[in-house]
Amino acid sequence: MRIDLRSDTITKPSPEMLEIMFKAEVGDDVFGDDLTVNKLEKKVAESFGMEAALFCATGTMTNQLAIRVHCSPGSEVICDELSHIFLYEGGGVALNAFSSVKTLKGDFGRLAANQIEAAINNPNDIHQPTTRLVSLENTVNKGGGSIYDFKEFLKIKELCLKYELPLHLDGARLFNALVETPETTVDYGRVFDSISICLSKGLGCPVGSLLIGNEKFIKKARRFRKVMGGGWRQAGYLAAAGIYALDNHVERLKEDHKRAQLLGAILSQKSYINKVYPIQTNIVIVELLENILATEMVSKLAEQNIYCSPFGKHLVRFVTHLDFNDSGLDSFESSIKKLSFS
Ligand SMILES: *Cc1c(COP(=O)(O)O)cnc(C)c1O
Repeated sequence: MRIDLRSDTITKPSPEMLEIMFKAEVGDDVFGDDLTVNKLEKKVAESFGMEAALFCATGTMTNQLAIRVHCSPGSEVICDELSHIFLYEGGGVALNAFSSVKTLKGDFGRLAANQIEAAINNPNDIHQPTTRLVSLENTVNKGGGSIYDFKEFLKIKELCLKYELPLHLDGARLFNALVETPETTVDYGRVFDSISICLSKGLGCPVGSLLIGNEKFIKKARRFRKVMGGGWRQAGYLAAAGIYALDNHVERLKEDHKRAQLLGAILSQKSYINKVYPIQTNIVIVELLENILATEMVSKLAEQNIYCSPFGKHLVRFVTHLDFNDSGLDSFESSIKKLSFS
C-alpha cells in the first residue's frame, strides 16, 4: 500500500465530487458568464462577510495578486521568516510587486504585534523602503501547522489601523485552524483586508484558491490576474468541486488532525527522532538526530512505500489528508518498523 504524506495537495477528487463537476453549469469566466464560478465567489465572499472574491488557479497566485494590489514599487512587506510568500513563491514579491520583504522570527511562524510594530519603517526616512503590508499565515505550514491565537490577530489589526497598513492572511490552511478554534470565517473577515484560501489542500479539490476582499480590491486583482495569464474560461467545472468541498469537507478536517496526532505519537517513539514539533493540525514535522539527514530518512521511507518531504537539513514533514485513512495509518505503523539507521 502506497502511503503518500508528502502534502495534502496530493488528493484526487472523490466519485461524488467528480459527479458534481461533470454536471456543472459553465460559461466563459473572462466574460463573467460562468455561473458556477460566480456562485463559488459569492458563497465564499458572503461566508467571510466580505464584499467580493476571485477564483484563481493557485494559492501562490492569490497571495501574489494580494501583494501586487496592496503594494507599489519600493514597498516592503512584513512577514515571518517561515512564511510561504517569502520561501516558496519564487521571489514573487520582487518579481510581481517590485517590493522587498522584511522577515521576522516568530513562534513557529507566528508573529506578535510588538515585533511587527518594531519592524515598521519610518515613512519620513527616505533611506528606508516604505512599509506597505503585513502578511500573516494561518495555519503556518513551515511552523508545523501551527495556529495563531486570535487575540494576537486583534492586536495586530489595531496596529495596522494605527499605521494605516493593510493586513493580508495567507489562509491556505485556514479551515484547519477554524475547525480547532471558536472563531468563525466572519471573525476573520472583520480583521483582514484580504484573505487567500486554498481548495486544493485539505479540502480535497483538484485545483483552486480564492482571494477575498472588498469590491475595489478584487476588481484590481481581477485585472492583474488577467495580465498574469490567469483569466480562465469554463472554470466552473473546478468551481463546482470547490462548492462541494466547502459543503462536505470542512468538518472532517478534524479527522486529519486526529491522525496527525497518532502519527506524531508513533514517530516520537523512534530512536532516530530527536523531537516532534507541536502538532495542532494536519502537519507533523520531525527533527532527526544530528547524524541523520532528512534526505536519507525520506529515501529509506520511500523503500517502504511511504512518501514524505524533506523540510530542512534534519527536518521531515508528513501531512495527513482526505486520502489517508485508518488503514493507511496502520500500514504506516507497520512499515516504519522496518526502518533502521546504521
Ligand atoms: C500551498 C500553500 C500556498 C499555495 O500554494 P499553491 O501550490 O500555489 O496553491 C500558499 N501558502 C501556503 C502556506 C501553502 O501551504
